[in-house]
Amino acid sequence: MSKLDFTLSAGPVAASPRTLAALGYPIVYHYDPEFLEQFARTSNKVAEFFATKNDIVLMQGEAILGLEGATRSLVRPGMHVLNLVQGVFGKGTGYWLTDFGAVLHEIEVPYNKAVDPAAVEAYLDEHPEIELVTVVASETPSGTVSDMSRIGPICREHGVLTLVDTVSGVGGMEFLTDEWGLDLCVAGAQKCLGGPPGVSLISVSPAAWEAIDRNPNAPTASYLSLTDWREKWLKGGTFPYTPSVSDIHGLEASLDEALEEGVENMVERHRRSALVARAGVRAMGLELWADSDDIASYCVTSVRLPEAVNHVELRSYVRERYGVMLSSGQGAGNIIRIAHMGPTASGLYPIVGLSALGRALLDLGQKVDVGAGIDAALAVLSEQRR
Ligand SMILES: *Cc1c(COP(=O)(O)O)cnc(C)c1O
Repeated sequence: MSKLDFTLSAGPVAASPRTLAALGYPIVYHYDPEFLEQFARTSNKVAEFFATKNDIVLMQGEAILGLEGATRSLVRPGMHVLNLVQGVFGKGTGYWLTDFGAVLHEIEVPYNKAVDPAAVEAYLDEHPEIELVTVVASETPSGTVSDMSRIGPICREHGVLTLVDTVSGVGGMEFLTDEWGLDLCVAGAQKCLGGPPGVSLISVSPAAWEAIDRNPNAPTASYLSLTDWREKWLKGGTFPYTPSVSDIHGLEASLDEALEEGVENMVERHRRSALVARAGVRAMGLELWADSDDIASYCVTSVRLPEAVNHVELRSYVRERYGVMLSSGQGAGNIIRIAHMGPTASGLYPIVGLSALGRALLDLGQKVDVGAGIDAALAVLSEQRR
C-alpha cells in the first residue's frame, strides 16, 4: 500500500493537531469530578454550535446510533410520517420508519436534486394526519443540501415535528436549530467539526420530549434510549453507561477550535473551499453532480464520472497511485467526491484533491484538462485571499 498523504474523504475527516493531542489525554474515571464537569461543559458547547437552548444529549456511538435512537424514540406504530428523500441517508430513514411501524409518506427526487420546500408545504396542507417530517440537512453522498431555513418553519406552522439528520450539516452550512424551529437534530463529530468518529450530538426540543413521552415504543433501559439519558444524565447527573472518555476529550477540543473560529467563519471557510473545488472541476471539463450550485453542499464536491470509469475503482487508484483518499459515491451514483470538510476546508487542500483526481482520470485514458482545472481553482483561491 502506498503512503497516505492526504485524507480528503467525506468523513471521518483528518483531525486537527489539537484534537489529536486531546485524544491522547489521560483516561479518567467517568465519575471523576473533572470528567463530570467536562461532559457538562462539552454539552454546552454543542448547544452553542447548534444555536439552541434545547437539551443536548451526547450518545456514545457514531451518529447512526443517535439517528436510530431518535427515530425509534419518536415513531409510534401507525404514526404518519413524511420522509424527504434526495439521497442515500434519506432513503435509509424511510426503511427505518417502515420497520418501526410508521405509515410512510415520501417526497423523493433524483439524488442530484433537492426537495422543494414548496412541495413539502403543499404535501402538509393536503395531509393533516402527518405528525413528523424526517429530513437530511446535508446529504453527504449526493453532495447536496436541503433548505432547512424554509423546511423548518413550514413544519412548525403545520404543527409537525422535525427529525433532522444534520450529521454533516452543522459547521459546513448555516444551521439555526431554534430560529428554524427544528425539534430533534443529530450531528456527528467526525464531519465538519473534524472530531473523532464515535459520538452522536443530539438536540431535543421540549415538543420532541413530549412526543417521546407519549410513545409507548420509545426505547428505555436500552443503549438506543434518549429517555435514559434524560432521566439519568440531564435530571440526575449519572450516566446510563460509561461514556467514551477519550472521544469526549477529542470532541471538546474540536468544539473549542470551532467556537474560537466562530461558526459563521467556519461555514464561510467551507463555502470558499467549495467554490475552489467547483471551479476546478468545471475547468477540467468534468461535470458537477449537483443539479445546480444552489443545492450543492459546501462540505463536499461531487463529480459525475464518465461511464467508463467506476467510482470505487477510481477511489482505490487515486489512493494507491497518489496517496490521496477521496470518497466514492456510496450508493448515490457513479460519482467521486472531494471533501473539503473540517480542517481540509482550507487553502490548497481542495486543489490537492483536484490534482490527484484529474491526473488519475488522465492515466485511465479520459480526456481531462488537468492544467486548466488547477489554474481555474488557483485563480478562485487567489481572489479569495486578496
Ligand atoms: C456520515 C453521515 C452519517 C453517519 O453515517 P455513517 O455511514 O456511519 O458514516 C449519517 N448521515 C449523514 C448525512 C452522514 O453524512
